[in-house]
Amino acid sequence: MARNILVVGELVGGQPTSTTLEMLGGAAALAEGGTVGVTLLGAGAAAAAAACAGASTAYANDDAAYDTFLGEQWLEAVGAALDASNAELVLIAQSTAGREIGPRLAHRRNTAVAMDCTSIVSDGGTIKANRPAYGGNAVATYSFATSPAIATVRAKSFEVASGAGPSNTVALPAPGASRVSVTGREKVVAEGLQLQDASIVVAGGRGLGASESFRVLEEMATTLGRDKAAVGASRAAVDLGWYPPSQQVGLTGKVVTPDLYFAIAISGASQHMAGCSGSKVLVAINRDAEANIFGFAKYGIVGDYKTVIPAVIAELKK
Ligand SMILES: Cc1cc2nc3c(=O)[nH]c(=O)nc-3n(C[C@H](O)[C@H](O)[C@H](O)COP(=O)(O)OP(=O)(O)OC[C@H]3O[C@@H](n4cnc5c(N)ncnc54)[C@H](O)[C@@H]3O)c2cc1C
Repeated sequence: MARNILVVGELVGGQPTSTTLEMLGGAAALAEGGTVGVTLLGAGAAAAAAACAGASTAYANDDAAYDTFLGEQWLEAVGAALDASNAELVLIAQSTAGREIGPRLAHRRNTAVAMDCTSIVSDGGTIKANRPAYGGNAVATYSFATSPAIATVRAKSFEVASGAGPSNTVALPAPGASRVSVTGREKVVAEGLQLQDASIVVAGGRGLGASESFRVLEEMATTLGRDKAAVGASRAAVDLGWYPPSQQVGLTGKVVTPDLYFAIAISGASQHMAGCSGSKVLVAINRDAEANIFGFAKYGIVGDYKTVIPAVIAELKK
């Protein structure tokens, strides 16, 4: 059944984020002959449209004032695009901006939002949204009784489409006044590849025993490739001061969906799994054969990380 879909795009450095491109790939598949629109706000928006494969129309405004995310201003622009596109489904990234826009847009349109979805499917003509529940131990499936259906989507939930960008561009209004003003910004200084962008995450837990043990995980990540792998940590390890909070994976940390996740000396508590259960392949290394983590792992190694990890690194170096 043909349906019109609107993707709320986000730009970093004038380029669409990887999640924007993935959502467009998902939208192109779900539209089933309907239209796919993308909103692009901020400096470089019009030029960024060219990279938006899967979209037929870009709803854009180049005003650099949009670069600083202010919910009220973005909601006006997204609302204008929604009216113009007549979309029945709106896809938004599960990002800082998306977490605000999703519920506020749903409230304004008197409709519903499904947050933090890992897949959206068309089931016999009905849109269904799947999202992890109970700390990642179950999957909840939602269908929508009202229109437009709104969903925020985790990174790497869809495949990027190939082909050309949109052929039409519709101008969105310039940002209006906002009751909120940003008085300052503090950037977390994180070196190297960010956790959410890594296709491989090497994560360590309390069982590592000391902060120095994270050096061997860093060596493993470096061996796997600095452009591919990042090091993560359980909250127990972070709380002990062994690794920075910016690298914590889990319910109160980052949610990651890499192709490959190594859980090293991590027990597999539900709060940790909430951050990594969307990984395509999970490899557990734990000296306790009964550890909960093995229930989630595709591959498991029972052993002391002190002997297993150097052996893994030696193999990788070959
Ligand atoms: C509200 C709330 C939010 C939370 N949010 C998060 C979150 O975001 N992220 C998170 O991770 N946790 C979170 N937690 C904490 C969570 O419940 C667990 O306490 C935590 O995940 C445990 O971390 P761990 O697996 O590293 O440690 P442990 O549970 O202590 O497990 C250590 C593991 O290491 C193994 N081990 C020990 N020595 C070795 C060795 N030499 N070689 C191999 N294996 C070894 C042990 O067998 C054990 O399985 C939260 C808890 C609450 C209540």
